[in-house]
Amino acid sequence: MSVYANPGTDGSVVSFKPRYEHWIGGEWTAPAKGQYFENVTPVTGQVFTEIARGTAEDIEAALDAAHAAAPAWTTTSPTERAIILNKIADRIEENLELLAVAETWDNGKAVRETLNADLPLAVDHFRYFAGAIRAQEGTLSQLDNDTTAYHFHEPLGVVGQIIPWNFPILMGVWKLAPALAAGNCVVLKPAEQTPASILVLIELIADLLPPGVVNIVNGFGVECGKPLASNPRIAKVAFTGETTTGRLIMQYASQNIIPVTLELGGKSPNIFFDDVMAHDDAYWDKAQEGFTLFALNQGEVCTCPSRALIQSSIYDRFLDTVAERTSRIVQGNPLDTETMMGAQASNDQLEKILSYIDIGTQEGAKIRIGGARAELGGELEGGFYVQPTIFEGDNSMRIFQEEIFGPVVAVTAFDDYDDAIAIANDTLYGLGAGVWTRNGNTVYRASRAIQAGRVWVNHFHNYPAHSAFGGYKSSGIGRENHLMMLDHYQQTKNVLVSY
Ligand code: NAD
Repeated sequence: MSVYANPGTDGSVVSFKPRYEHWIGGEWTAPAKGQYFENVTPVTGQVFTEIARGTAEDIEAALDAAHAAAPAWTTTSPTERAIILNKIADRIEENLELLAVAETWDNGKAVRETLNADLPLAVDHFRYFAGAIRAQEGTLSQLDNDTTAYHFHEPLGVVGQIIPWNFPILMGVWKLAPALAAGNCVVLKPAEQTPASILVLIELIADLLPPGVVNIVNGFGVECGKPLASNPRIAKVAFTGETTTGRLIMQYASQNIIPVTLELGGKSPNIFFDDVMAHDDAYWDKAQEGFTLFALNQGEVCTCPSRALIQSSIYDRFLDTVAERTSRIVQGNPLDTETMMGAQASNDQLEKILSYIDIGTQEGAKIRIGGARAELGGELEGGFYVQPTIFEGDNSMRIFQEEIFGPVVAVTAFDDYDDAIAIANDTLYGLGAGVWTRNGNTVYRASRAIQAGRVWVNHFHNYPAHSAFGGYKSSGIGRENHLMMLDHYQQTKNVLVSY
């Protein structure tokens, strides 16, 4: 099948409920205030379901359920939890199409990415942390002849998690898998723009988890996210979203002296040194593809390579080629497996991207291709589509400094290595970066000199579960993925025993 049917229509693999309540204590629970909000699909711009609108009372109910579940769950063995996590991974793997279509309909992203990247990564994250928690060991040291020190890893208890709309299922899984592996109960708030697909997921895996271990409360930021993040009954808050919201989350958490993990925004440089065109065709092809990845997930990726830095000596030839390649990105119905770029996640996001295209033009940046809403017609008429857009300008411009979170790349030239590093680091952010060269010395120096938590060399957008991911500077605090993630969801108990 190359085009999946719209959810709810005959032949579709997923049918959404007309209305979703919160998921609390292992069952659907009506919102305390009885209010719901409309959920729109970016594919067509139409409302397809209603979602419970959470408030502080719903957060308290979810925390009651989580605290009731915690004594039993926090004392399960790593092996018991690993078995459950592996079963969750299997269940996702058995239902890839259902979840992919649900995610695409909710978020607008191309279904082939959800099928080939987001969901396999979600499966792998559950399996990785299932293995990691069984492999984790405490430490023991002999302090003197009479005294021994033991270090135990203990779960934090009940944690709060708040996620954004760009990878609704994957961002949820990045948070849930390590928290559950470490033995915590969770209250999670999805983004109000994309609440439905994670509810499809929780219903799918409901029988695998004891009631109350995972609770999902939907709603808006201040109304529902704040009562969670500022709640004295959580032992940690893990947040992914905008840097401005991250600052607020830190303020809330400081009132309760609890740890935060913040995965925030980015303005990632993708640096192409001049030898990139001098090697074999396969490498050159890979580098061109690496440039076009600014449009992956419609540019709605925190590590989007949204600034391309090209060495002056190859600038014109390089840009001609990659602009032509960008023009071949297939836009269309996100449910079509041939489609490479789908819809932006919301109308607000569409408007924001278009306003940045205006800002770039007013600042004097030159549009190389794109620069407008993509009019796809037919049933996609009301959907939220933008053309992949290449701007040329300089790094002081707002389109180079501010996160657009759309399929817009700002391109500039650099003279030499020092110039490239100076431009790359001239940003508030420090999340990701790309370096393209086969000069080993440049690889080493650049990857150490760039101020970012993740540097890809000769590729981009790879997110293995066993590689630490997180930001320098205003891109965040803490890391996700990797074994070190377990430390973020545990505390260390030190016991000194004297004989
Ligand atoms: P956002 O900050 O607007 O919202 C994120 C979440 O926070 C949503 O669930 C929202 O309801 C909630 N929220 C908003 N205000 C709140 C408040 N006052 N208190 C508590 N919760 C509140 O971000 P967004 O627009 O949904 O997501 C896009 C951003 O996420 C981009 O900046 C992107 O770079 C970032 N992001 C970062 C990573 C990463 O790993 N670093 C990954 C994905 C997205």
